[in-house]
This record gives sequence, structure tokens and C-alpha cells, in this order.
Amino acid sequence: MGAPMVPNLDDRVAGPFWQAANEQRLVVQRCDACGHLRWPPLSGCPDCLDRSATWVDVAGTGRIWSFAVYHRALHPAFGADVPYVIAVIELDEGPLMTARYTGPAPLVNDQVEVFFESLVEGVTIPRFRPRSD
Ligand code: ZN
Repeated sequence: MGAPMVPNLDDRVAGPFWQAANEQRLVVQRCDACGHLRWPPLSGCPDCLDRSATWVDVAGTGRIWSFAVYHRALHPAFGADVPYVIAVIELDEGPLMTARYTGPAPLVNDQVEVFFESLVEGVTIPRFRPRSD
């Protein structure tokens, strides 16, 4: 069995995303020049190419935009989890976020909310589940 794939909290681009997850906050980058919200973390804005951005909190709610059921683990560390669902979530603020979905069989447009799962000491992963309200 391989070791879990652990995000690099010190990564220059993506590190702040994982640091926020450790604090149970979901964040995306907002371009300082045009205001575009983006995920995954990038060093430049895909809309205007500006290289400055600020991390901002999002509500952690959205809808399932697409999903796939994995019957073979992407990594040996996930071998015990199959089958599992990887979903593309359209956050209420707009960005698309790829994450594990946990819950009954999903449908496109299902309302979901983030929750945070501790993977190993110091590393927390955002995941999504059906919205509770
Ligand atoms: Zn921009």
C-alpha cells in the first residue's frame, strides 16, 4: 500500500487552499485586477492574465455539475474506498471545484455542502455531501 497523497501546505500556489482547509474554511482565489473567482489554484488569472490574487472564503455550498463513480482507485491509498464518487461542484459563487462526494447516489443539480475530513495529522480535505437544510 502506498502512503496517502498528502497536499503540500507550503506550495507557493496551492498551499493557502490547504492551510484554509485545516481551519475548516473553503477558499478560492479572486483576481485583484478583474475580480474573477477561480479554482483550482493558479499563478495567473485565466480571464485577464493578471498575476495578483487574494484568497477569499466561499460558503461551501453549490450543486453537482458532473460526477464519476470510480471503481478503480486513482491511488493505492484509496483502494479500500472503491467505489467512490468524484464530483465537479459548481459553487454558489461560480467556480467549479472537483472533490470527493459522500452520500446517496448523486444526480446532476443535487444541492451539496462542504464538510472537512482529517486525512492525517495536519492535513484536512474538503469533501461534499447532500445539503442538510
Ligand atoms: Zn483577472
